[in-house]
Amino acid sequence: MTAESANSLDPNTSALLDASGLPQVLTSVVGGEWSPRGDGPLHEVADPGTEEVVGQFEESSSGLVDEAVRNAHVAWTTRWGWIDPAARGRILHAVAAGFREKADVLARLESLDTGKPLSQARGDVAVTVRYLEYYAGLADKIAGETIAQPAGSFAYTLREPYGVVAHITPWNAPLSQMMRGVAPCLAAGNTVVVKPSELTPLTTALAARIMVEAGLPAGVCNVVLGGGAGTGQALVSHDLVRHITFTGSVATGRAVGHVAADRIVGCNLELGGKSPTIVMGDADLSAAAAAGALAVIRNSGQSCFATTRLLVHRSVHDRFVELVAARMQGLSVGHGLEDPDLGPLISDSQHARVLSLVAGAREDGAAVVTGGNRPDDVQRGHFLMPTLLSGVTNDMPIARQEVFGPVQSVLAFDELEEAIDIANDTEFGLSAGIFTGDVGIAHYVAGRLQAGQVQVNRYAGAGVEVPFGGYKSSGLGREKGTEAIHHYTQLKSVIVATAVRPTGQEQ
Ligand code: NDP
Repeated sequence: MTAESANSLDPNTSALLDASGLPQVLTSVVGGEWSPRGDGPLHEVADPGTEEVVGQFEESSSGLVDEAVRNAHVAWTTRWGWIDPAARGRILHAVAAGFREKADVLARLESLDTGKPLSQARGDVAVTVRYLEYYAGLADKIAGETIAQPAGSFAYTLREPYGVVAHITPWNAPLSQMMRGVAPCLAAGNTVVVKPSELTPLTTALAARIMVEAGLPAGVCNVVLGGGAGTGQALVSHDLVRHITFTGSVATGRAVGHVAADRIVGCNLELGGKSPTIVMGDADLSAAAAAGALAVIRNSGQSCFATTRLLVHRSVHDRFVELVAARMQGLSVGHGLEDPDLGPLISDSQHARVLSLVAGAREDGAAVVTGGNRPDDVQRGHFLMPTLLSGVTNDMPIARQEVFGPVQSVLAFDELEEAIDIANDTEFGLSAGIFTGDVGIAHYVAGRLQAGQVQVNRYAGAGVEVPFGGYKSSGLGREKGTEAIHHYTQLKSVIVATAVRPTGQEQ
């Protein structure tokens, strides 16, 4: 990116940035083009694994946000909203191929920007491609229904695009979160303006260019850069934005939801979680322990749906804690591009927040079974050892607040109903799990857990086909699967009088 940073950077990082196709100073992508304006402040982009500045981006002014939204609006009204849906599908398939071709550079950039291990970044790129392919296939299958009416008329419904949809994404999986919302939006005939987190702008901006190069008409997907309070606020408040998809924290989701309510536009909110998993006495403990460890491995625990409260039957509690600890103690921690098991946290403030929650848990009486500290031999980067806490109770802040770090908590229970009560005693409801050998108990518990998703005898990311979204404060609306199409279309009812009236009703 910047010539200055390129000179002082690790040669591998420099080579990656040179090969990426990113401009020296990253800018918004408006109307399909990099859009330097020279009127916005410059911000640094840091590598969370070294804390080194790897580049700069130019913040989008409110004028540029306006330009981006107007471009998207024109692209929608003049073409994208009205072309043959099968043609939209073909273009999205071509875009998917464009991403597959650039998969290596995208994965490396995502790893550099977020700190996540390279193999996880490769997984995110594969999911990004999969979103595009899945919704490309759905583009020409979006249909309404016919509705029976009294004789002399009939009715049908149409699913129509909203127009311009704003997408605000967080820093933990910028590329796949972008495409989770953007792919169904585009398939349904909307156009988009995306604002990534200011901490991780690299792959989102590059994605917009890859899409145009692969054949997406200019203006259909625009990207603006900057912080939430300025650029984000300007975007969601714009008159021509007719729907908002926000992924992030509950506090910001609430603020964005207020804007949507004031403007009376639709809003998908994908917010945080504090997801419980119940481990029964008859469970496959090894599988449950692997799932418990995976929660801290994926994005170093910076994952909204990670299970972070393991509710374990007291009869197997001690053995289970040993198994999870053994898995965590074997994990490697390092720079994302070296592909360890765990990378760094995103920022210094996130690192300090996680450490302070762990210290608080210790003061509250929880035991640190393993971890809880920086790796001994690391001087730079926001690293934290995988951490397991036992003796946690559900009233402790560590069990109530989203930690967003590599920290797992174990809580003991005696009775199933007690476990269900503890699981549901949270403001969140994004995801939940149950491990048991009893299929009847599994389905009973799946029905009782207040969460948008329940996993049985597994706990990992589900396919792009499976709807995802929260109960309670975890959000509104559903992403993924065919369900997402319902959230990115508005329903129109058409009622038609038939020309010929049925026999006996002539006047
Ligand atoms: P934030 O809520 O802080 O930020 C999310 C995005 O919103 C960022 O792009 C941010 O911009 C932007 N933003 C901030 N303020 C405003 C505003 N007033 N108007 C418009 N946009 C704004 O979340 P984090 O980035 O810290 O992400 C972590 C959170 O995201 C966690 O709570 C996690 O659970 C949740 N999350 C939920 C997921 C889900 O699918 N349910 C998936 C992933 C994460 P900027 O940061 O540039 O200032």
